[in-house]
Amino acid sequence: MGKGREDVRELIEHEKEKRGGCVRCPAKPNEYWGWEAFDWDHVFGEKLFNVAEAVYESSKFGFRAHEVQQKVLDEIDKCQLLCANCHRTVSRERIRTRQREAEERWHVFVTRWVAA
Ligand SMILES: [Zn+2]
Repeated sequence: MGKGREDVRELIEHEKEKRGGCVRCPAKPNEYWGWEAFDWDHVFGEKLFNVAEAVYESSKFGFRAHEVQQKVLDEIDKCQLLCANCHRTVSRERIRTRQREAEERWHVFVTRWVAA
């Protein structure tokens, strides 16, 4: 069980190494921070689970190790790699965009309703 968790951790780190660093800014691991300072940010398809949490959840999945690893790889395929700072900023921008879109939909609805 513990071995499976380490395997998943290594797999995720190896995938981060392949990406090389943050896609939004020049951040790469250095003497001050390692790969733990980089997050998987879902940009394609449906998010099934948080990749970082898979390390801790992998022993509970009830799958064999290679099946867990394939699920993690499938999930990573839907993600871009961001440094923690960019991840925070991008997440905030998404929330603001969703709020603005909701306000615009509400405005369209009210405008039509009042006009009718
Ligand atoms: Zn960044």
